[in-house]
Amino acid sequence: MIGTLYVVATPIGNLKDMSFRAVEVLKSVDFIACEDTRHSKILLDHYAVQKPLLSFFDASEKRKTPMIISRLQNGENAALISDAGTPGIADPGYRLINEAIQRGIHIEFIPGPSALIAALVLSGLPTDRFVFEGFFPIKSGQKKTKLESLKDEERTVIFYESPHRILKTLLVMQEVLGDVPVVIAREITKKFEEVVRARVSEVIAHFSGKRVLGEFVVLFNLKSLKTEDRKQKTVQ
Ligand code: SAM
Repeated sequence: MIGTLYVVATPIGNLKDMSFRAVEVLKSVDFIACEDTRHSKILLDHYAVQKPLLSFFDASEKRKTPMIISRLQNGENAALISDAGTPGIADPGYRLINEAIQRGIHIEFIPGPSALIAALVLSGLPTDRFVFEGFFPIKSGQKKTKLESLKDEERTVIFYESPHRILKTLLVMQEVLGDVPVVIAREITKKFEEVVRARVSEVIAHFSGKRVLGEFVVLFNLKSLKTEDRKQKTVQ
């Protein structure tokens, strides 16, 4: 009997967003592959999951995939989790999943949070068609090229961005796209959750002159007819 690979989504901030089934599956497997074992241990301890952890991050995904596949082929059941949210979404996972599919290994997905879906829903922008672009490119030139390529995009566009680069990215957006309406969803499900819906220049002013912290999702819809210029702050 070959084993099953369970792909398990975990919270993006609020530990309570873990599903019953996720906990049940994590308690049932032989081992758990996770990005940062120390980080995941906080969540696993919270739910009294005591299973061997195997470190599985971007740079080690290619090297460790054959070993995980071989353990699955030998009948062990494995779970794949990432530091936060859904594995494979701007996180390691798809190579292992693809390899498992090629080898006829059964895969089950335990759905749960993902920052892009949470931000899309919170944004108030059209949700019927959207495009997820992953992380913004780091260099200014590459940011410009990417944004130029999206000038005629009709779908809602979603990017991930880091706190160190958010201001720079907003400045490039203003330069390439003009003073368009944008939505910034920060620290979703966490204590300092904040959704800012405003023009790029206003968002730049909002985040300027203070220490910018947290995790960010940037969204815009250049074809949206009605965009409300509103800022909303939710402190839980
Ligand atoms: N796998 C995750 C998912 O399903 O959303 C994404 C992992 S990616 C390495 C981390 C990025 O996701 C962060 O830099 C940020 O852009 C976004 N992110 C994760 N958690 C978030 C949160 N609570 N609020 C806003 N953005 C978040």
